[in-house]
Amino acid sequence: MPRSGKAARERSDRIYEIQLSAGIGVPSGQACLRQIRCRCAGRKENTVSMYELIQLSQRSCYIQSPAKIGLVRLEDPEVCLIDSGSDKDAGRRVRQHLDANGWRLTAIYNTHSNADHIGGNKYLQGQTGCRIYAPGIECAFTRHPVLEPSFLYGGYPCKEMRHKFLMAQESDALELTAECLPEGLESIPLPGHFFDMVGFRTEDGVVYLADCLSSRETLDKYQIGFLYDVAAYLETLERVKAMEAKWFVPAHAEVSEDVSALAQYNIDKVLEIAEKITGICQGPLCFEAILQRLFSAYGLTMNFQQYVLVGSTIRSYLAWLKDGGRLEALFEDNMLLWRRK
Ligand SMILES: [Zn+2]
Repeated sequence: MPRSGKAARERSDRIYEIQLSAGIGVPSGQACLRQIRCRCAGRKENTVSMYELIQLSQRSCYIQSPAKIGLVRLEDPEVCLIDSGSDKDAGRRVRQHLDANGWRLTAIYNTHSNADHIGGNKYLQGQTGCRIYAPGIECAFTRHPVLEPSFLYGGYPCKEMRHKFLMAQESDALELTAECLPEGLESIPLPGHFFDMVGFRTEDGVVYLADCLSSRETLDKYQIGFLYDVAAYLETLERVKAMEAKWFVPAHAEVSEDVSALAQYNIDKVLEIAEKITGICQGPLCFEAILQRLFSAYGLTMNFQQYVLVGSTIRSYLAWLKDGGRLEALFEDNMLLWRRK
């Protein structure tokens, strides 16, 4: 049955809330309107509304969106994007900016393949013929988006997992290499949150950080941010902490001139969760029991999305804790159990 626009929007807000709790989604509501300083536009304080185009320096801009979309001006009238938003609607809003400014989109550079970052790819490629580039394994996921829910679930995903919030439409992505990048745009490896995630640095000093950082509000409210590789994530955060730039643009946190304190806050949260898991595993416990206790401890509500997003993340923590010698794995009565060492 067709949904009314309002009902669809309400449903969409609710699902974003669910995704947010695992760090993939984004704050809706009040976060859509928030204060940032925009020096280059000559504004000290400004309220940014959804899909507004914000210029940060001469060539580097972003479009406010549930997952911020970077826009870099190349040789006039050409521009490229860093990610494409969560869906076709985001793609349409991007296109309005292209049309209004007489810009020609040459390429979309995807930071990683989560659905909220590649969701506008197909529409924009269809409309503009732009090329799409994604790094390493992210390119395979972008070309074959069923890999995302399949990976998260660890098998064939049932239909509750095969919707646009976990599975974007496929797009014709090419492997991102240094040669594909326009002059003045540099990719920065940022693995951890997802397999081969990258960020980008522009020559006028803006660093797009993709999903390295969750905001304090998100972490305080939802606690367990999605990640794939704990060790790589912590190393990435240490590098981010030491980075310098005119502006940092994290996809799901506030644009800032200094992200070192927020990077440390994210590191501390990872270490806290690891501590919590080892605390839970006093006696041998199976994955499902560990996950249940974490949901109870953090006041989270279980459903298919939470199960796969938080569940996949906790499996990664268990592997990291085992490989680091803090947990051991036992097979008892044909069950895989985890126990503190
Ligand atoms: Zn994201």
